[in-house]
Amino acid sequence: AVSAQHLTKVYGSGDVAVTALNDVSIGFETGQFTAIMGPSGSGKSTLMHLLAGLDSATSGQVRLGDTELTALGDNELTKLRRERIGFVFQSFNLLPMFTALQNITLPSELAGTEVDATWLDMLVDTFGMRDRLTHKPHELSGGQQQRVAIARALSTRPDVIFADEPTGNLDSRSGAEVLSFLRRSVRELGQTIVMVTHDPTAAAYADQVVLLADGQIAGTIASPTPESVMAGLDALRSLETTAGMS
Ligand code: ATP
Ligand code: MG
Repeated sequence: AVSAQHLTKVYGSGDVAVTALNDVSIGFETGQFTAIMGPSGSGKSTLMHLLAGLDSATSGQVRLGDTELTALGDNELTKLRRERIGFVFQSFNLLPMFTALQNITLPSELAGTEVDATWLDMLVDTFGMRDRLTHKPHELSGGQQQRVAIARALSTRPDVIFADEPTGNLDSRSGAEVLSFLRRSVRELGQTIVMVTHDPTAAAYADQVVLLADGQIAGTIASPTPESVMAGLDALRSLETTAGMS
């Protein structure tokens, strides 16, 4: 569904230039749940932002289905992002003066379309928000706020959802709840999800884990468990130590 070809991102120029992504090629299948892991500064957020069209690449391409994001003009890109891409942030990013329901339907309002009523009903029930629809974000727990944010991301039935540390601000119990909702939307709704996380337990909810190091893909773990993910991260650290010594 989504893929990157030879994606490179350099921030700044000259002495202060930072190569955050270095020739990354990767594809994410429809209906697959992928976790991206790697040390701080390895380029995870940069990769997500480029894949979601929130920032532009220095070189390389991003494709969503048949559409090449990197070839679109600003207006076309904004339209495509509103209709076909969902993004979930660590800090929820809900609008404080809007109710849960208004937050969920916001992307459709912006796109000038209407949320399919059956789909909306199903989302509200799937995310257990039926009795919280008129509440404002400050009247909701962190886990409930993130569930609203995920329902919002799903409201337009996007091709893909990107989630950058969606459980980073949650305690482990609400984190686990949010993760099982994400996994349900993959299993039951056929959603494609790409999620960044630091937590091996969170990563084990995914179908595969992609390891990033120094702006490059360092490996993939299929059918991850917390143990196999920790082993993968350990291997990555020892590689870095070895590279540091040479
Ligand atoms: P973390 O786990 O800490 O969130 P990350 O893997 O998401 O890290 P990125 O945020 O993608 O890492 O950053 C990759 C590299 O690019 C880092 O060296 C960072 O300092 C640099 N970088 C990120 N954003 C910018 C920016 N706007 N301007 C300059 N450099 C940046
Ligand atoms: Mg990041």
